[in-house]
Amino acid sequence: MFKLHLRERFFPNAKFFKSLNFRIMVILFLVGTIPALILSAAFLSAYREQSITRLGNDVSNQCQILATQLGSANYLDNPGNETLTGELTQLATLYDGRILIIDQNFHIMVDTYALETGRTMVAEEVIKCFKGQSTTHYVSGRFIEMTVPITGNGEDKSVIGVILASASTDSLNVRFEELLNFTEIWLASGSICLLALAVFLSNWLVKPLRHMNKFIGDLVEGALDGDLDIHDCTETENISNTFNSLLAKLRLMEESRQEFVSNVSHELKTPLASMKVLADSLLVQEGAPVELYQEFMQDIAEEIDRENNIISDLLTLVKTDRKVTKLNVEVTNVNEFLEQILKRLRPIAEQGNIEMVFESNRNVSAEIDVTRLSLAFSNLVENAIKYNHENGWVRVSLDADHKFFYVKVSDSGMGIPEESLDYIFERFYRVDKSHSQEIGGTGLGLAITRSAVVAHRGAIRVQSEAGGGTIFTVRIPLRYIT
Ligand code: ADP
Repeated sequence: MFKLHLRERFFPNAKFFKSLNFRIMVILFLVGTIPALILSAAFLSAYREQSITRLGNDVSNQCQILATQLGSANYLDNPGNETLTGELTQLATLYDGRILIIDQNFHIMVDTYALETGRTMVAEEVIKCFKGQSTTHYVSGRFIEMTVPITGNGEDKSVIGVILASASTDSLNVRFEELLNFTEIWLASGSICLLALAVFLSNWLVKPLRHMNKFIGDLVEGALDGDLDIHDCTETENISNTFNSLLAKLRLMEESRQEFVSNVSHELKTPLASMKVLADSLLVQEGAPVELYQEFMQDIAEEIDRENNIISDLLTLVKTDRKVTKLNVEVTNVNEFLEQILKRLRPIAEQGNIEMVFESNRNVSAEIDVTRLSLAFSNLVENAIKYNHENGWVRVSLDADHKFFYVKVSDSGMGIPEESLDYIFERFYRVDKSHSQEIGGTGLGLAITRSAVVAHRGAIRVQSEAGGGTIFTVRIPLRYIT
């Protein structure tokens, strides 16, 4: 709570920062700017290095030419050579630097700044140069410094002196600063353009989602009327299609819920209406005979039974329909289980002189919820007896493979017309309402059966034709799949 409060206080637009829009914007911006920054930094550093190397090479070439001239003119023995001294000064001025000529005794013979002439210079680089190391240059502060050996005219070409030259890097630095400023301005203006582009692109990319949200909002307000129709891109098209299938399912569920409610009220009202008629007709007849009372009360009792049946079937259905109800699965001998059901129903079959046969070639044991499947198979066998002819037969067979067991309930009864086959599993559906009512059906039995079979991850199928008997086949996995 406190955390939420703080977040809201410091980030009033926290929702925006969490949005896909913002994330896409940041990613686009970073993807654009980071490589540009890295490339510019790499380019600037390479440029600086290259400029320094080039300047160093230029100065060192000039110094080498000069060293050759100094060596061949024997300048170290004859430092009064005006031409060479002029060249030295010119070279130092050209590179805004300083040139020192040092002899073998480490005395500074010439200093173009005229500050240290005659002094001793014992620098590491100079010593190395006397020892024969070739020309090197290195950066020291704002200068590039180098040592160039002056070799004598003798056969051994020994080092008789060293030119210690330095060239200013100021002009390079100024050029580099200019380039840096220029790059910074480009990067800044590029970043602003990129930010604008990222805002535009991220908005454009999430536009279909915004459309979708608005559409769904409108749909919810419009009581599920209309379809989602966003074809901006393949993904939104796919989501639209999936969402529309979901909508269709929701509409179907809503329709079937309404139908169910109206069916329930109708079915519950019918026995009540009959009882009312029976009671009213007794009330209006003054001094009605006791026999009439008995007959009407008998009818009223039957209607009460019917009402009771409907209510208990409804309760069973509501219970089995609830997906959360877990099955009470146990390993069961299916042969014994089916024989038990037949035994219970045999007396009803005998009333219509209907023969009941159980066939099975193998012993099957499976993980089932005995209570729920017992209800399911009882309904099937009860129907096979109820919708049969006198002296008919009911055959229940059991078979299995390595995955499923199969129960077939066949009868020699009145069959189901082809046009009704698609509806018999629906709640309250009855092929012949009056006949079924006479028999005592509620139209909920097969709905309860199917719900129990589906809860076992099984399947139920029916084959029938009017007047030609009916076969229900149920397939249930041997091992319960959670
Ligand atoms: P009811 O309680 O009416 O039997 P059910 O849901 O069990 O309801 O069955 C729905 C309808 O399917 C029945 O009303 C009947 O018309 C038909 N039906 C079910 N089983 C059979 C069968 N074995 N033979 C003929 N018709 C059947």
